[in-house]
Amino acid sequence: MTYDPGLSGWGGAPRSTPAARVRATDLDAIRRVLAGAGRRGVTLRGLGRSYGDASLNAGGTVLEMPALDGTFVLHDDGRLTVSAGHSLDTILRRILPHGWWLPVVPGTRQVTVGGAIAADVHGKNHHVDGTFGAHVESLRLVLADGDLVEVSPTQDPELFWATVGGMGLTGVIVEATLRLHRVETSYFLVDTDRTDDVHGLLDLIDAHGDEHRYSVAWFDTATTGARLGRAVLTAGDSAPVSALDPERRRDPLAFDAPTLGKVPLTPPLSLVNRWTARAFNELWYRKAPASRRGEVQDITQFFHPLDLVDDWNRVYGPAGFVQYQAVVPDRESLVELVERIGTSDHVSSLNVLKRFGAANPSPLSFPMPGLTLAADFPIRPGLGALLADLDAIVTAAGGRLYLAKDARTDAATLAAGYPRLDDFRAVRSRVGADRVFTSDLARRLEL
Ligand SMILES: Cc1cc2nc3c(=O)[nH]c(=O)nc-3n(C[C@H](O)[C@H](O)[C@H](O)COP(=O)(O)OP(=O)(O)OC[C@H]3O[C@@H](n4cnc5c(N)ncnc54)[C@H](O)[C@@H]3O)c2cc1C
Repeated sequence: MTYDPGLSGWGGAPRSTPAARVRATDLDAIRRVLAGAGRRGVTLRGLGRSYGDASLNAGGTVLEMPALDGTFVLHDDGRLTVSAGHSLDTILRRILPHGWWLPVVPGTRQVTVGGAIAADVHGKNHHVDGTFGAHVESLRLVLADGDLVEVSPTQDPELFWATVGGMGLTGVIVEATLRLHRVETSYFLVDTDRTDDVHGLLDLIDAHGDEHRYSVAWFDTATTGARLGRAVLTAGDSAPVSALDPERRRDPLAFDAPTLGKVPLTPPLSLVNRWTARAFNELWYRKAPASRRGEVQDITQFFHPLDLVDDWNRVYGPAGFVQYQAVVPDRESLVELVERIGTSDHVSSLNVLKRFGAANPSPLSFPMPGLTLAADFPIRPGLGALLADLDAIVTAAGGRLYLAKDARTDAATLAAGYPRLDDFRAVRSRVGADRVFTSDLARRLEL
């Protein structure tokens, strides 16, 4: 008998073993799986880029969506109708030559359309454009009984908004029509500023945070003391052709997203520890200019430095890592989170901070007005206690955690951040989804 390590999300933990993994190739295959759902139900899985247990189903069926990638219709007016299994990477490669760009792009292109809608993902432009769901004109959903329905903000809006951000728990998203953005080039004009600590960063965001369509900050929690939270803020906009050098002007809409290869195997121990994290953070900070205006950057540089190396999550070793992402409404609570991390004996190798704009009508969508922080911690003894402390700060502030990143919180903490959870449960029950659609995350958090 061979050892089955089971499935995990991007963080590598927890792992769980489904009873069956089935590829969703067409509507018939999907309907067969739903009709045969056993007691442990069905979980949908895109490219497995959620960090925790959202696409896991111990003892049940995992329905894998990436094979559902047939329909691809680019309408003249910039709407795109696509099957839900297409990745954002594939879509960008196909729409860019026609001068279109996706309205919201998360920190990796390796996610499916279904996963992007189910997590209602956000990008660097949330303060201007909102989430992915805000740009979905309509979607087609297979319900628990096999019925195919079309929903939109005007056609069964409750089911539409419960599906946006609903983590695959209302039905199978099989197709969506998205509204795209026009671009002249595939490049970005970027301003960079360095700050000495987290207070300087928040001042900068307060003063200049709305000047560009895209903005995000990387900050350092491995360096403690007066320089805790020193940061590099990058903000920019799509570049016009006139900003490009002659060589890039020859093919301004080229899909220019260089990659370097992949991490070939999982080392026996995490390569991320206090010393390597400090060195990495020092390097990242030093390589950024103190202030620079109008630099032309390609897709990898500006949007997806994490896509430079495939399977980079392996560097955390077999124990894996947790990405802790929360949003809090005020800067005092954000500073409290950063200080709690900085004074702990756990190290976060990569930290990201962004100011969100308005929330949307989805009961489970994560973004709300305030500041979001994401921090990557290698898993080792004692981490749970630190993260429980962070949860307490978030809950006291009236903030919330992001389901697509979560692997470990409890139902009460989650519910405190999502006051409309019962609205979500009511829609789930109305369409019979609670009989079929589930996941390890849904059971853990009683969704
Ligand atoms: C390096 C990296 C950077 C990231 N950056 C960001 C970021 O900037 N912003 C952000 O918001 N997120 C970010 N994420 C998280 C990622 O965008 C989300 O977790 C996304 O949902 C992953 O999509 P997926 O296709 O891999 O879905 P999976 O991870 O496989 O599944 C995610 C959820 O979607 C459901 N689902 C999948 N397909 C369907 C379907 N067809 N119908 C219904 N439900 C479905 C699953 O059941 C599950 O609940 C990042 C992740 C990584 C690894």
